[in-house]
Amino acid sequence: MRIINKCLSKEEFEKYISKKRVKRRIDKIILHHTWDTVWQWKRRKVSIPYYKKMYEEKGWKAGPHIFAAPEGIWLFTNIDIQGIHANAGNNGSVGIEMVGRYDKKPPSGKVWKNTKAVLKTLLKKFNLSVKDIHFHREYNPKKSCPGKAITKKWLKTIEKDSL
Ligand SMILES: [Zn+2]
Repeated sequence: MRIINKCLSKEEFEKYISKKRVKRRIDKIILHHTWDTVWQWKRRKVSIPYYKKMYEEKGWKAGPHIFAAPEGIWLFTNIDIQGIHANAGNNGSVGIEMVGRYDKKPPSGKVWKNTKAVLKTLLKKFNLSVKDIHFHREYNPKKSCPGKAITKKWLKTIEKDSL
């Protein structure tokens, strides 16, 4: 599996996306959580290479496109390539992993700040609106992903928050 494997600041990500030529059609964004916690991420029990290996073991040729982590925004699968992350939702989507587990509480702090920057930048780039942000569980009802605390009502709060 080929990944970009670069960690960008919010500003660097905005610049990267504004210059990026994307030839495939993008009509939605799909949110995920890693389910492994921020605590595990910070202690490097889980990481970009960890997930890459996990996806490769499933036989996947691609993964989600972006990881919103506490230290920055990781570019994983090139957004110009269809990712593998949400079954029937893979087609036409950008898949975003929020580092952490959000069944009880939505993300806060830097993960949230970076997630918001990613969403805001991608919606603008592809002329989408908050209603075009979908959840993994819409494509796989067996999963709670991106976490039970992440709801359409919660998305409305981002909308107010100048998205
Ligand atoms: Zn997911």
